[in-house]
Amino acid sequence: MSIPYDDVVRFVRRYAEVIAENKEYLTELDSAIGDADHGINMNRGMQAALAKLDGMPGGDIGALLKTVGMTLVSTVGGAGGPLYGTLFMQMGMATAGKAELSPQDWSDALTKAVEGVVMRGKAELGDKTMVDALTPARDALKEALEQGASFGDALRRSAAAAEEGMKATIPLVARKGRASYLGERSAGHQDPGATSSFLLLEVAADTWATADP
Ligand code: ADP
Ligand code: MG
Repeated sequence: MSIPYDDVVRFVRRYAEVIAENKEYLTELDSAIGDADHGINMNRGMQAALAKLDGMPGGDIGALLKTVGMTLVSTVGGAGGPLYGTLFMQMGMATAGKAELSPQDWSDALTKAVEGVVMRGKAELGDKTMVDALTPARDALKEALEQGASFGDALRRSAAAAEEGMKATIPLVARKGRASYLGERSAGHQDPGATSSFLLLEVAADTWATADP
């Protein structure tokens, strides 16, 4: 099973939709330990990315994902924009010139994306950031594929690991980003970036796993 270009477009469109649906929720999470703009930021960025999709020539998944990343960097300020921009740009570079993605291609793209986010933001696992959702998602995907799981199953396991990682940020004290200014008071709240990252992996599973039960 592989993911054709059009299904990657569906993934980007659905992520923009899900971010729009969760705009208030993400902003509410950010109001507890940040500056109440994460949902607004992500929504602005993904809507700008959507506007670019129609003008894309099509066929090159790498070019598509890179455009999404560059749009996020140029339209979203703060920490989240450049970090999600890096995530999508790295995915784009890992899939440059590809008209379809194999399960291994997606795993490699996610691996590069996490590497890029870590290099840019310098967050480690347990710092209460988006890395806490992305890292277990990457690991679960890789492990599932190594064990010979179907792609659909691997995608679901990856999303489930992201959800667990997201929930695991609740008790943590933030060591990176704005939330770290709160010190101990950041504990007891779910990280907004980890939440938007879980949504990304959930959308990947929902969009791509359906054809492959
Ligand atoms: P800002 O913090 O500038 O207002 P956002 O609210 O859009 O930006 O994004 C906040 C999210 O960004 C946090 O919840 C966290 O997950 C993520 N984040 C912040 N700093 C870092 C970092 N250095 N590395 C990884 N993720 C980070
Ligand atoms: Mg914020």
